[in-house]
Amino acid sequence: MLYESTRGKYNTILSAEAIKQGIAPDGGLFVPSKGVALSAEQIYDMIDLNYKQIAIEILKLFLTDFTEEEITDCVNNAYNEDKFDAKEITPLSKLSDYLFVLELWHGPTCAFKDMALQILPHFLTRAAEKTGETDNIVILVATSGDTGKAALEGFKDVPKTQIIVFYPEQGVSEIQKLQMVTQEGNNTHVVAVRGNFDDTQSGVKAIFGNEHVRNRLKEHHYRFSSANSINWGRLVPQIIYYFSAYLELLKKKEIAPGEEINFVVPTGNFGNILAGFYARQMGLPVHRLICAANENNVLTDFIKTGLYDRERLFKKTISPSMDILISSNLERLLYELTGHNAGKINEWMNELKGDGKYRVDSDTFNRVKEIFWSDFATDSQTLATIKEVHQKYNYVMDTHTAVAEYVYNKYTKETGDRRKAVIVSTASPFKFNASVAKALLEEEAIQGRSEFDLLKVLADISKLPIPKGLQNLDTKPVLHKKVVEKEEMLEAIKDIIIY
Ligand SMILES: *Cc1c(COP(=O)(O)O)cnc(C)c1O
Repeated sequence: MLYESTRGKYNTILSAEAIKQGIAPDGGLFVPSKGVALSAEQIYDMIDLNYKQIAIEILKLFLTDFTEEEITDCVNNAYNEDKFDAKEITPLSKLSDYLFVLELWHGPTCAFKDMALQILPHFLTRAAEKTGETDNIVILVATSGDTGKAALEGFKDVPKTQIIVFYPEQGVSEIQKLQMVTQEGNNTHVVAVRGNFDDTQSGVKAIFGNEHVRNRLKEHHYRFSSANSINWGRLVPQIIYYFSAYLELLKKKEIAPGEEINFVVPTGNFGNILAGFYARQMGLPVHRLICAANENNVLTDFIKTGLYDRERLFKKTISPSMDILISSNLERLLYELTGHNAGKINEWMNELKGDGKYRVDSDTFNRVKEIFWSDFATDSQTLATIKEVHQKYNYVMDTHTAVAEYVYNKYTKETGDRRKAVIVSTASPFKFNASVAKALLEEEAIQGRSEFDLLKVLADISKLPIPKGLQNLDTKPVLHKKVVEKEEMLEAIKDIIIY
């Protein structure tokens, strides 16, 4: 399988090269140059496989330049019971005869980013070997909370890599911050930036684009790479759980072979739901992919109207991992839906850069509407949903998952579609416990309590154990104390990596 850039101005390359480069030099994203199809029979044949075995079957279709042994090794290192606190890796909970919740948060950092970031470092070190790379790799990350910690856990102590995470000093929750500043590992570096997430992300982008710095690093045998969701190596592992969820429903006889289901996905950067799109393209019987947004509802508007318009006020919400106005992975979807038309992608992306908006042509828009449906939830609707779900199903959801549940209810009301549905749950309720506690308890019960007290309160209500990764965070030593101005990010890198 070869990979090509969505902007069409770069040659086709093997997956190892695409994973190592992260983003294409012409500014595009790497995608498979042709589709991968599985027959209904081939899908049914996977019914008795466990998560790791399904992972190997899916990954080998896309990473054809990796040997099966290399893929197996990556999978075994990523998805095991040392790292995940559920033997199924991604357990499926049944809420009703129609509705299931796919829990993607049993990894070390309690959010779905682990599904990809536990395996990406293994792909990347293999990819470096396979492409004859001798330099050390420096992973630069700008995070609004979840990606930073997941990347640190994934890359810690990985030979020949250094990882540097920048986070906005005031822009992450107390728990997210403590998860990062207590990070262990001999190659991990965490730096707070005095600014917001946009400042942090722009800073990192500018450093990636700085040729002088790149050349200086090269002289000292380092090169930058990226761990965010523009990297194909982060996208491809996410296809696996759409298959595992479907196969589990089949196995439990909740659905019949070939029966179409819907997936509901809380969306920000369009990475998770795009993996669902690839699974559907491969032949997985998915009717609709329901895209659930919070009040930063740029994707909802796009799916309803065909106009992508990021010119709007950015809102800070209680589902912060979806507070995004530029959904980078949408570019991959449009490339696929236009039959790999790089000319159109360049046109639209230039309009986005220039005017902050673009409108797709009617053929493309019709295809979008056929596959996707979208709506959004406000913060108060999200809180009310957490409470309702707890009362109705005795199940505790985090804020991101609750956005999906709210949008799913709207979908069934408006369309009458009663196909079975899977809500893709992206975070443990403990990770966003302050909001979850607010939804479930009276004001007096939470007033004056720290996020750590609330973990215990939530454990009582949900009858779930506090996840290992969040226990004792308040007593762990703080190992990363550096705080810099947004203009000083490059200096910070120089202090960490002598070049
Ligand atoms: C990253 C994240 C999302 C959004 O995922 P995308 O792939 O960016 O759409 C949703 N929920 C949580 C908890 C996340 O960490």
